[in-house]
Amino acid sequence: MKIQENIPLGPKTTMRIGGTAAYYTELYSKKDCEEAFEYAKDNNLKLVVIGGGSNTIFANGVIDALIVRLKGNEVKIDEEKVYVQAGKNLPMLINELAKEGMDLSALTGIPGSMGGAVIGNAGQGPEGIWIDNYIESVTIFTDGLFKIISKDECNFKYRESIFKNIDLPVIIWEATLVIPSNNPEEIKNKIESLLKKRIETQPHTKTAGSCFKAKDDVPAWKLIDEAGLRGRKEGGICISEKHANFLINEKDGTYKDAVSLVESVQSYMKNPLEVEMRFVKNDGCIEFP
Ligand SMILES: Cc1cc2nc3c(=O)[nH]c(=O)nc-3n(C[C@H](O)[C@H](O)[C@H](O)COP(=O)(O)OP(=O)(O)OC[C@H]3O[C@@H](n4cnc5c(N)ncnc54)[C@H](O)[C@@H]3O)c2cc1C
Repeated sequence: MKIQENIPLGPKTTMRIGGTAAYYTELYSKKDCEEAFEYAKDNNLKLVVIGGGSNTIFANGVIDALIVRLKGNEVKIDEEKVYVQAGKNLPMLINELAKEGMDLSALTGIPGSMGGAVIGNAGQGPEGIWIDNYIESVTIFTDGLFKIISKDECNFKYRESIFKNIDLPVIIWEATLVIPSNNPEEIKNKIESLLKKRIETQPHTKTAGSCFKAKDDVPAWKLIDEAGLRGRKEGGICISEKHANFLINEKDGTYKDAVSLVESVQSYMKNPLEVEMRFVKNDGCIEFP
């Protein structure tokens, strides 16, 4: 494992926002996880984990932490079970499994890594299908040890898992999935139709996906729309005209612009919305936990 200094973080996020990591490394093996944890502990650094960076932005300036990015991406199929390392890109996994007649197509169109999907229980629509549907267990690394956590212990809920808001740094290392079988051609058709729907309903530009969570089963985009905020801008960041829960980095948007836009949305809500996107501050803590 090689620790690098002053590494730009913006290019590692889909919204392209962020300054530099004081310390940065990529994790390919279990040994890398152990070494990164030791390095952070010995140097009194906060450990911040990212996967695909598709739901995260970083503050501009220096992030005073060790940022680790999951890169281990092996996939092993053993009869009905599939073992997926956390750095595996989810869209690629869905396509690869489709060829094997394993149907994960319900998660089509969600960017990012397996680890990010587990942390936020990625899926579609509050009434839809979530990754916990397929999870049997998760291997995590925390406090210097690898542990296998059963699905029940993960405490998955709508866009939530037990790992999301705990104080100790947790690295999701691998997930064990059980995936239903289906005809490869039928899976391919489902993937294509879901992708088509996404293209029609979502912007394809510099965004981190949904910024806010649905509240009491009402989609956040609806509440934002009702407040007349579609298209609202703060500096270089705007609320997408196409999907009112997506923030867009329109032109050289900054972290501060994005924070101001979130605060401005909140000021229109009777009760504040929960923030889904991860805003990482200069001290490595989350802005809207
Ligand atoms: C165009 C677009 C559409 C989207 N549509 C959807 C959708 O339909 N449904 C949906 O659920 N999401 C959607 N998202 C949001 C995002 O893709 C998901 O939340 C995704 O699962 C995040 O994965 P990631 O690897 O990119 O996470 P990152 O952004 O890298 O990280 C997100 C959080 O997970 C943590 N994390 C990531 N990997 C690990 C790990 N291995 N161990 C510990 N912590 C980790 C990070 O610390 C951070 O807190 C969309 C995003 C975009 C840009």
